Amino acid sequence: VYIVGVDLGGTQLRAALSDASGRIYRRLAEPTKAVEGVEAVLSRLKDLLRQTMAGVPPTEIEAIGISAPGPLDPRAGVILTAPNLPGWNEVPLRHIIAAEFGYPTYLGNDANLAALAEGRFGAGRGLKDFIYITVSTGIGGGVITDGRLLLGERGLGAEVGHMTLEANGPRCNCGNIGCLEALASGTAIAREATLRLSEGCSSLISDMVQGDLSRVTGQTVYEAAQKGDPLAHEVFARAGFYLGVGLVNLLYLFNPSRIILGGSVMKAGDLILNPVWEVVRRRISRFYWERLSIVLADLGDDVGLLGAVALVLDAKGQD
Ligand SMILES: [Zn+2]
Repeated sequence: VYIVGVDLGGTQLRAALSDASGRIYRRLAEPTKAVEGVEAVLSRLKDLLRQTMAGVPPTEIEAIGISAPGPLDPRAGVILTAPNLPGWNEVPLRHIIAAEFGYPTYLGNDANLAALAEGRFGAGRGLKDFIYITVSTGIGGGVITDGRLLLGERGLGAEVGHMTLEANGPRCNCGNIGCLEALASGTAIAREATLRLSEGCSSLISDMVQGDLSRVTGQTVYEAAQKGDPLAHEVFARAGFYLGVGLVNLLYLFNPSRIILGGSVMKAGDLILNPVWEVVRRRISRFYWERLSIVLADLGDDVGLLGAVALVLDAKGQD
């Protein structure tokens, strides 16, 4: 039997036909074109699902799992609002898809499901207590504690990117102040580099963007760091410092055995990981970290699809 995994992203809609071992037999993708609104995206999503399931006997399809940006209510199957999907306010996506196709359907937030995917198919295999964090444009994550994904009352828990680290720090996209996301995401890295350049610091970055500071991205800072640019190194060290402080909070709260770091910013590797470890070792008792591993995520671009598959498998209690 097959499981259908869906990854509803702000830029791409993806769907796959998978088996219970995470082997993908068919995968399809299309631009989301989120600006066209809810109905247009929904109809594209339904078409994509029809193509994904084409030619497969209905009895061979067990369920549909959907990974979507939060905040969403996984139990009710409702997307509450989605910053990258204009107009998606309280959309009962699970019901819409279940009613259209007639299969059991499950919905989960993308970062939570990435944690499930890493736990079942990737860097968290066999572990009962681990935390997955994705550091990209934003910061999201999932907390697996005693083998279970931590959800909270409305499924809004484990938002590791929105822990307050600087009570009077920079404003975050979520409306809060001084969140980890506002201090260590790719966006924060670009913002910090831009700020320092505008204060007159010299760096390769200025030449790379031909002096146009509005063009500085996390990627630019990364490329400059690769060339040994001191300012770029400092900016990554600062992001790593805050990520480390965030991890200290998480170690105190959940005492995981492993932290899995994914997302585009993590390709900076030791530029981030070294300051992370430095903070962890300096700020919290060794009993929390002497058996801790901090590793990079195993799963690449398929993490969303595999997370949707893992959600179905977890819901069905298939271990
Ligand atoms: Zn925030």
